[in-house]
Amino acid sequence: MVTIDRKAHYNATMRDLIFRFAPSPNGHLHLGHAFSALVSQDMAKKSGGRFLLRIEDIDVARCRPGFEAQMLDDLTWLGLDWERPVRRQSEHFDTYRSAIGKLEQMGLVYPCFASRKDISEHAVPGKSDPDGAPLYPGLHKELSIRDIARRKAAGEHYAMRLDMDKAIVKAQEISPHPLTFREMNQDMGDAETVIADPARWGDAVVARKDVPTSYHLSVVVDDALQGITHVTRGRDLFAATDIHRLLQVLLGLPEPVYHHHALLTAGDGRKLSKSHGDRSLKNLREEGMTVQDIRKMIAEKVR
Ligand code: GLU
Repeated sequence: MVTIDRKAHYNATMRDLIFRFAPSPNGHLHLGHAFSALVSQDMAKKSGGRFLLRIEDIDVARCRPGFEAQMLDDLTWLGLDWERPVRRQSEHFDTYRSAIGKLEQMGLVYPCFASRKDISEHAVPGKSDPDGAPLYPGLHKELSIRDIARRKAAGEHYAMRLDMDKAIVKAQEISPHPLTFREMNQDMGDAETVIADPARWGDAVVARKDVPTSYHLSVVVDDALQGITHVTRGRDLFAATDIHRLLQVLLGLPEPVYHHHALLTAGDGRKLSKSHGDRSLKNLREEGMTVQDIRKMIAEKVR
């Protein structure tokens, strides 16, 4: 008779729940970041899950060590604690290069030398992506191998773009089901299935000549490598999940569950942001605010 060691079986099949907070150190953290970090850590705590911090610093020109140090200090002050070592994306460009290589081998990416100006001049009026940027009008999609070689040899800058139509067809071949993701709320009840529509992004940028990755590519590669089971982040990244799911299917990566939390708004209803000079956590701390004050301010601003 075969006996099953139920406890061992349970331990082997029960995956840890892993949450993460993934800020970019390109400025000081503000209340919106504090909220995002607290949502993620609170969900991890409530579910007995693990909590990781990831530094998303692929934009090496704008991300600075000083911002990162202040960020870690602010998060510690807020009472957050995370596992070490912390993954820093700028240390893993080779990993992203190999993911791009895989998409290249599948014939799904192409170099585009068009400048932002070229794109806005050729864009179809009224056609924009979910972030409001002009939809890429397909310039340079049909460049010859010779043209590409000539432009690269001349040192021209380029972006690697995902051929969205081909990518969607390929993803359907790999997984012949509708492309969806699961969205859960903060109390982690039943998840709702959301239809992903990556086509609305057009041929999205997945890497650049000088930085061999993009937000979309590194986020899916890292979430998979770090075994993230629950991606928690702001509602402003809800639509980006469409591209993330597409890339996960193409690269054979697991599908996490998502929670896109509400955004904090300033008094006039707009989203809080560094660029509008909203006060940073650093400033609020210097003004003598306590963690309780911060939590109270956050609760008042959740939309
Ligand atoms: N690094 C992104 C940001 O700071 C967040 C990415 C994510 O959570 O998926 O907005």
